[in-house]
Amino acid sequence: MSRDADCIFCKIVAVEIPAAVVYEDESLLAFLDVSPLAAGHVLVVPQAHYSSLVDLPVEIATQIALVLPRLGRALMEVTQAEGFNVLVNDGAAAGQVVPHLHFHLIPRKTGDGLGYRWNAGSYEGDRAKELAAAYQQALTSHR
Ligand code: 5GP
Ligand code: ZN
Repeated sequence: MSRDADCIFCKIVAVEIPAAVVYEDESLLAFLDVSPLAAGHVLVVPQAHYSSLVDLPVEIATQIALVLPRLGRALMEVTQAEGFNVLVNDGAAAGQVVPHLHFHLIPRKTGDGLGYRWNAGSYEGDRAKELAAAYQQALTSHR
């Protein structure tokens, strides 16, 4: 299993530093974020070191897809949240600080004051069509 000697989440997976573990299987570990945006804020990580979602093998991606709904149900029950955000900061430009892929599960309640700037734009002319076509083309070469 790939591992980065300097990576804090690899050290948590290896139980070299402590974490409040909420779930573990052969390929994943979920634990509480040490600096939560809300009580019960969970991080889900592959046990192997991958920095980005784009590098993730399909078997691990599948396992994440299987586990996220279960973790979401547990989060709703345990934290009494009204909803939750699933968030990946992928890349430093997107706010990723720990370069070991992780999914944030953040419990939400109405009026909790959490959130971030969502400066929505719009498309001019055929730009949306062009972009969609470019995606379709790219997806034919990236399976
Ligand atoms: P990022 O900005 O990379 O998406 O988020 C990294 C998250 O990891 C932050 O929310 C931060 O609080 C959390 N974190 C950083 N170091 C540790 C640690 O040693 N233990 C735990 N449990 N969480 C950590
Ligand atoms: Zn790592």
